[in-house]
Amino acid sequence: MKIHEYQGKEILKKYGVAVPRGIPCFSVDEAVRAAEALGGPVWVVKAQIHAGGRGKGGGVKLARSIDEVRLLSGQILGMQLKTHQTGPEGQKVRRLLIEEGADIRKELYVGMVVDRVTQRVCLMASSEGGMDIEEVAAHTPEKIHKVFVDPMVGLADGESDQVARKIGVPEASLPQARRVLQGLYSAFWDTDASLAEINPLILTGDGNVIALDAKLNFDANALFRHPEIVALRDLDEEDPAEIEASKFDLAYIQLDGNIGCLVNGAGLAMATMDTIKLFGGEPANFLDVGGGATTEKVTEAFKIMLRNPNLRAILVNIFGGIMRCDVIAEGVIAASKAVGLKVPLVVRMKGTNEELGRRMLAESGLPIISADTMAEAAQKVVAAAR
Ligand code: ADP
Ligand code: MG
Repeated sequence: MKIHEYQGKEILKKYGVAVPRGIPCFSVDEAVRAAEALGGPVWVVKAQIHAGGRGKGGGVKLARSIDEVRLLSGQILGMQLKTHQTGPEGQKVRRLLIEEGADIRKELYVGMVVDRVTQRVCLMASSEGGMDIEEVAAHTPEKIHKVFVDPMVGLADGESDQVARKIGVPEASLPQARRVLQGLYSAFWDTDASLAEINPLILTGDGNVIALDAKLNFDANALFRHPEIVALRDLDEEDPAEIEASKFDLAYIQLDGNIGCLVNGAGLAMATMDTIKLFGGEPANFLDVGGGATTEKVTEAFKIMLRNPNLRAILVNIFGGIMRCDVIAEGVIAASKAVGLKVPLVVRMKGTNEELGRRMLAESGLPIISADTMAEAAQKVVAAAR
């Protein structure tokens, strides 16, 4: 789950990370009042969307007067902001952060992720802040320094100082850098974050170390123990089909193709998409109905897939282990009738009660194309989509 920059900064601030003073706003009037409350002489008007690269896309602008704050806020609020992370359609800006302008001497990068190989939180730091860290990693990997943090100890003072020196933090600012890095680590740990990034972390003219940006992503599997983070969710930033799916506990991700996939189990869902691609097709979605899919869940899954205007055919690929194939067949039949299915439907079922399930489909009178193997199912659905 993602949150906005201003929300991320509020969390980091609680952990002792220095951030500029700022106020989130939903209208131009609010933005003007925020700027007046903060006081000048320089403000930054920042679009709040769940994507990075806002600066380059025109979503972060410097203002030198209240009139300029008003003008820029009016331009940015409501704009369709396009960045390398939003896709070509961009994302509509509905919230702003009005922030005091910082005196930037140097822009640095710090980030944290869970490293699966060492099973530790990995701190990454670089002197090359303010730009795409992916670019730095690709062209000058030696400029990224890593620390794998011992979970029993946390980020030690020595480790923090060592990495801070490597990215160019002067001796006098090391204690401040320690506060930032250790605060970031504690925030990451306590909130079950999957990613925490400060880009840029800046050195100011008078040697202060301040987080100018904040990006926090959280592990969705741990949200049940963080109601305070769930409360920060902004549904405007999420795909409507994915929101609908989450209500029914369906794991659904919208994709660019035209073949809908309804599968049980994430691994089988991935394999199904691969097989479709192998035979020249393009999946319209990832959809895992899970182990305990009921008729209701399958019906909802169909409805969600059918909202997609690009959909040309559907492939149902089920392995009946705990799940019984007759239950799926019942769901498919009920759903097809309920939604008045207009696109071709290919069904492959294996496992518990597969005979019964297949018979139910055959006797339903619905124009269902059945398949035995994965390859056959994929070929049939690719042909049907054409
Ligand atoms: P994004 O990463 O989405 O482009 P950032 O918050 O990193 O957005 O802002 C982009 C750039 O704008 C920063 O690298 C920094 O140079 C500048 N900037 C952001 N916030 C401030 C601020 N409060 N004061 C001065 N400059 C800022
Ligand atoms: Mg940034």
